[in-house]
Parts: sequence; structure tokens; C-alpha cells
Amino acid sequence: MTQQRKAVALISGGLDSLLAARVMLEQGIHVEGINFFTGFCVEGHTHAIRKQDKVKPKRNNALWSAEQLGIKLHIIDIVEEYKDVLLNPKHGYGSNMNPCLDCKIFMVHKALEWAQKKGFDFIITGEVVGQRPMSQRKDTMPVVARESGAQDRLLRPLCAKNLPPTLPEREGWVDRDRLYGFSGRNRKPQMALAKQFGFEDYASPAGGCCFLTDEAYARKLVDLWKGRGKREYEMDDIMLLKVGRHIRPAPHYKLIVSREEGENNFLMGYRKQFIHLFTTSHPGPLVLLDGEPGEADLELVARITARYSQGKMAEAVTVEIHFPDGTLRTLEVAPLPPIEVKKEWMV
Ligand code: SF4
Repeated sequence: MTQQRKAVALISGGLDSLLAARVMLEQGIHVEGINFFTGFCVEGHTHAIRKQDKVKPKRNNALWSAEQLGIKLHIIDIVEEYKDVLLNPKHGYGSNMNPCLDCKIFMVHKALEWAQKKGFDFIITGEVVGQRPMSQRKDTMPVVARESGAQDRLLRPLCAKNLPPTLPEREGWVDRDRLYGFSGRNRKPQMALAKQFGFEDYASPAGGCCFLTDEAYARKLVDLWKGRGKREYEMDDIMLLKVGRHIRPAPHYKLIVSREEGENNFLMGYRKQFIHLFTTSHPGPLVLLDGEPGEADLELVARITARYSQGKMAEAVTVEIHFPDGTLRTLEVAPLPPIEVKKEWMV
């Protein structure tokens, strides 16, 4: 009897990793998935909060993929270990703060460790040659295989025919003829294969698999480090960068202003860690203040809070400022006219 070989699949929740895993299942391989949680994942976050995204399904696409495939999914938290990948990427960043090449190397390496511990034979990813400018180029794909330590135990079923045969192909665990030779940014071959397999309603992320590829998010992250004078972050920081309008009127503090009810509710959970403000004379946003404002800053902060309330046209708006020690200050202020909200304050 031939031994059934086992592969661990990196499952991002996107179409490519779904297809790659399915191609392996078609060949009788036992597949289990791993989804790494870095804290920056796009999965079900802001569209679970914001009204404008309410039509998007509020689901975890990695779990959805596993369910479609009928495989086990292991969700692994790598938030702490990932910090070094993001802060010190050997291969640098992509167009924003995305360290895609180091990220891929790290994830494949973690998958390899997992595979070795659990007695799995090889690793599969949904990578396609030429699809992404940094980690999925013909010259960088071998770098991922080499630097992750996976070497030729890393198989990319969707573009394997464009790459040298890997161990699973050479050993006959998988049939190379039934793998694919996709390349480039054209998504049509993947869509056709999805149709063939009967997959509908799959996620189609526009940029990448995480917020680090998002220009606005990357800008806020860099601003956070600049404001703190050091490049570090905690989980709360990266969650808060996904929510609200971020305004930095001075280098030593910034405001996070909720834009709608969902964000308001989300920020409520963080209010006790921050100085926070809200208007009491008119409906308005919850505002978190991150930093160390001086006494002289409080009036401006209250006026900005009033400007984003429904009292923005009123002569005076009452604003409560709550401090983390439980003390409270109430100010009656004139809302800051929009023209005085400086463009350079907007992060
Ligand atoms: S988009 Fe994000 S999660 Fe995906 S490879 Fe790049 S850095 Fe990693």
C-alpha cells in the first residue's frame, strides 16, 4: 500500500490558497491548513464595524476556505514574533509598510516547523509567479524556499510548472502533470479553475492579505512611531489604526475620532485607557486622545471634538474630558471652523 502523504497549506482566505489546497486534495494528499494571525489581517475587521461595508459578508475567509475544502484549519497567533519581521525586514518593504518577502519567508518557516512536529511531508502555498511585485517574482520565490529552510519541500501547485520540480513531484507523491503553470497578474485562469471546482462567493482582496499594503494604514503606522519616538507597537495600537479619523494637531498627541456608530461602539472598549472626550450638548463622536497633552492643548482638543459633533454650526458646545484616573473636566467651547482644521494634522 502506498503511504498517503500529508501537506500543510498556508491558507490566507483568498482564492489562490483555496485553489492550491484543492489541487492537492484532488491528488489524494491529506491537507490541513494553517492561517497565521499577525494582527494586521484584513479578515472581517473594519467591514464588520463600518456601515459602508455592511454588504460584505462578515466571515473569516480562512475558516470559510477550510469549510469549502473540508479540511482542518489551524489558526496560529504570531503577533509577538511578527514584530521583528515588520520592524526589521532584511529584504525591506514593498510599496507601503508591507515586508512581503520577509513575511512569506517567516510564515513558510513557521509552517515548516509545524509540519516537522506533526509529521507532515511538505508545504503548499497559493503563490503564483509574477503575481505580486515583491514576494511572488521568479527571482524571489527561490529565496522564500531557501531562507525559510523549506527548500524543495515547498510546492506551489498553481505555478509549479514554471518552477523546477520539487521533492513531492520528484518522489511521485504528486503528479506534476496535474499541477498548473499560472503566471502574472491575470486572475482569469484562477477564476476558471474556481469555476471548475464549483467555488463561488470567494474573497477577492484588492491589494494584499493585510493592512500593511494599505497606504493610509501604513501612513498611520509611521505616524504612530514618529509620535512615540520609537518603532514599536502593541496589539491595541494596531487595532486602533484600523478605526476612526486620526488627527495629530501637535507632535506630542493625536486624536482618534469615531466616524459612525459602529466605530463609536468599538472605541468605547478602549476609552478607559485614554483621555477621552465627547459632547454632551449635542450628539457627537467619541474621541480618544493618545499622548500627553498640555493644559493649553485641552481647549483645542475640545474644539476639534465639537467640530465633528452635530453642534458644529452652534455657537457653543459642551464637551466632557475624561481622564484615565477618573477625573472629569467640562468645557464649553466654540467648534473649530473647518477651515482651521489644518490639512497637515490629518494623518
Ligand atoms: S500582504 Fe501582508 S500578510 Fe501578505 S505577504 Fe505581504 S506583509 Fe505578509
